[in-house]
Amino acid sequence: MSAAVEWVEAWAPADGARRAHDLFVDRFGTEPDGTWSAPGRVNLIGEHTDYNGGLCLPTALPHRAYVALRRRDDDTVRLVSAQEAGRVREVRLADVAPGTVDGWPAYVAGVAWALREAGHVVGGFDVAVDSCVPYGAGLSSSASLEASVAVALDAVFDLGLAGTAEQPDDAGRTTLAAVCVRAENEIAGAPTGGMDQSASLRASAGHALLLDCLDGSVRHVPFDLSAHGLELLVVDTRAEHALVDGQYAARRAACEAAAVRLGVGTLREVAPEALDAALATLADGSAEGDVQVRRVRHVVREIERVEQFVARLDAGDVEAVGPLMDASHASLRDDYEVSCRELDLVVDAARAAGALGARMTGGGFGGSAIALVRADEVDAVASAVADAFAAGGLRAPAFVLAPPAAPAS
Ligand code: ADP
Ligand code: MG
Repeated sequence: MSAAVEWVEAWAPADGARRAHDLFVDRFGTEPDGTWSAPGRVNLIGEHTDYNGGLCLPTALPHRAYVALRRRDDDTVRLVSAQEAGRVREVRLADVAPGTVDGWPAYVAGVAWALREAGHVVGGFDVAVDSCVPYGAGLSSSASLEASVAVALDAVFDLGLAGTAEQPDDAGRTTLAAVCVRAENEIAGAPTGGMDQSASLRASAGHALLLDCLDGSVRHVPFDLSAHGLELLVVDTRAEHALVDGQYAARRAACEAAAVRLGVGTLREVAPEALDAALATLADGSAEGDVQVRRVRHVVREIERVEQFVARLDAGDVEAVGPLMDASHASLRDDYEVSCRELDLVVDAARAAGALGARMTGGGFGGSAIALVRADEVDAVASAVADAFAAGGLRAPAFVLAPPAAPAS
């Protein structure tokens, strides 16, 4: 018997906006000033490169966080989320500082705090949240929440940063992305490299976002899946592994230590042609040196793979990116050591069922994997993955289709 396949559908934008609006009216007894939304993201390639000054290539998901928001004349923030039991919480903006806000309100109040820190005049507000971005799946529900609040505050406090949906202001959105990063790092206390917030605010429908993490510059690369009869299948493994934060910190520390030994500011400065010499320098016979060899090999080759991936998209050869996805996964599994049984299982089962390429995406140790699949093989590939999880005695995964969607608006 084959296992059931559970799809997580994206809401139609009008539905999402109505949900947030109705929750707002129900809890606060008045109309909001408006509704705003922002997407989660998935990274096509370029993993663990952001904190090394490298390249990554996210797209915005059709799954979005929706907020209905109304400006207040005082310093109070009242918030409610359908995903957090629908209970109204209250925070005073003057009290917001690192370590003072517990739980999910930190992601919202943190954005207002970071806007003030950046010199913008922002006061209190009431906000209702509803979202179809899966939580904790590595698809950045946190950045989608921050970005939706950021564009809402931009509008109601007339900051003039986001531009319009037709004509987004990329410079202003870069400022908003930096504000969201500060909110997440300093108020929510979660380490994040900046890819998620840039994707949610600066992506473009039908395109992948080539993000240069050295200087924050972007290029929109055409990624028209449907014109090529393809789908991007995302599989949320629902795996939860302990020690994730420590592992992330250890990877960053190894990269930083290797950069110091190589005499470079970031590993971005190690060109692919200079990799062999760099690895010879790092391999000093110690266990630490051996680890650095593998971490650096991943980072330098992964940045090179992003460039190759983009070159293939620019040439219109979308199917040809499959082998680069496969190579990225092998490198993350063997050299960077951030995969896990569930992620490897998705990748192996998807490929065996005909996927053109597959890899883990996001930080690793759980979260999601992606597969590039011919549109008429999506159901077969999803079934094969669901069956492999059932046969392995694992919790059923969730499936998402991810055509590159629009940014925050
Ligand atoms: P990811 O971003 O990969 O989904 P994170 O752990 O970074 O996972 O962020 C998840 C957290 O973000 C949640 O635990 C919650 O605090 C907050 N969050 C995300 N979406 C919402 C929402 N719709 N309502 C309230 N809080 C949310
Ligand atoms: Mg997150």
